[in-house]
Amino acid sequence: MNGKILETENVTVSFDGFKALNNLNFSLDTGELRVVIGPNGAGKTTFLDVITGKVQPTQGRVLFKGRNTRRLAEEQIALLGIGRKFQTPRVYLNLTPRENLELACNRHKNVFSTLFGRPPVAERNTIVGLLETVNLSVKADLQAALLSHGEKQRLEIGMLVAQSPDLLLVDEPVAGLTDEETENVGELLLALAESHSILVIEHDMEFVRQIARKVTVLHQGTVLCEGSIDEVQNDRRVIEVYLGEPMEAAE
Ligand code: ADP
Ligand code: MG
Repeated sequence: MNGKILETENVTVSFDGFKALNNLNFSLDTGELRVVIGPNGAGKTTFLDVITGKVQPTQGRVLFKGRNTRRLAEEQIALLGIGRKFQTPRVYLNLTPRENLELACNRHKNVFSTLFGRPPVAERNTIVGLLETVNLSVKADLQAALLSHGEKQRLEIGMLVAQSPDLLLVDEPVAGLTDEETENVGELLLALAESHSILVIEHDMEFVRQIARKVTVLHQGTVLCEGSIDEVQNDRRVIEVYLGEPMEAAE
C-alpha cells in the first residue's frame, strides 16, 4: 500500500451527457481527515456515490487501498471498509441508542443471534465504549425518538463506527444543528480521526474551520483548489465561485 486510502483517477460521471463529475483527480492519505466543500450542484454527493459504488464512473477509476472497485457491488465495497453516513439520520426511533448500536455491530453477522441472544461480553464492552465515544452513555436506554437531532446524528455516527470501517464518508453532518450540537459533532469527528480516515462533505464554514486541516473545493465536478481553510477562503477562484452563494463566516 502506498499510504493512500482513496484515489480517484480522471473520474467522469455522465448523466445523459451532463458531467456531474468531470475528470476528477483526488487522493486521501491513510489516517487523514479531509473536508470537501463546493456550491450546490458541484458534484459532492455524486462524488460519494462513485466512491461507494452506488454510481459507476463513466470514465476513470476509483481505488480503495490501491484496489480498483470497478467490478464490485455496493455491499462488497462496504465490506472492504467504507462506511457512509447519509445526511438525514437513519436510526431506529423505537429502539434505544444501545440497541441501535448492537444492531449496527451485528449487521454483518448473524441476525438471529442479535435478536434472540445476549451479546457476548466483548461486544457489550464495545458498545459501552461506543456510547462513551458519542457521548450518549446517560441516554443509552431511552427511546431514540426522544433524542435531539444532534444526538441522533452522533448516534448514527456511532452506528457507522460500530461496523469498523477504515474510511468514513460523512455527508453534511451538522445541517440543521444548533451551534452547541455542531461543536459536539466536530469534537466527535476529531476524536474519530485519530483512528480512521474521514471524508466530510460540509457547507457550514465555521464547522469546516473547527475540524479541517486540508480542504478540497469542488466546482462543476472537478477540483477547483485544495489547501488549508485560510488558503481556500482567500483563493480568488473560490471567492468567484461562491459569489452568488456567499461563504458563511468568511471574515
Ligand atoms: P452537490 O451534492 O454538490 O450539490 P450533486 O452531486 O448532487 O451535487 O449533483 C451534481 C450535478 O449532477 C447536479 O447538477 C445534479 O443535478 C446532477 N445530477 C446528480 N444526480 C443526477 C442523476 N441521477 N441524474 C441526472 N443528473 C444528476
Ligand atoms: Mg449534495
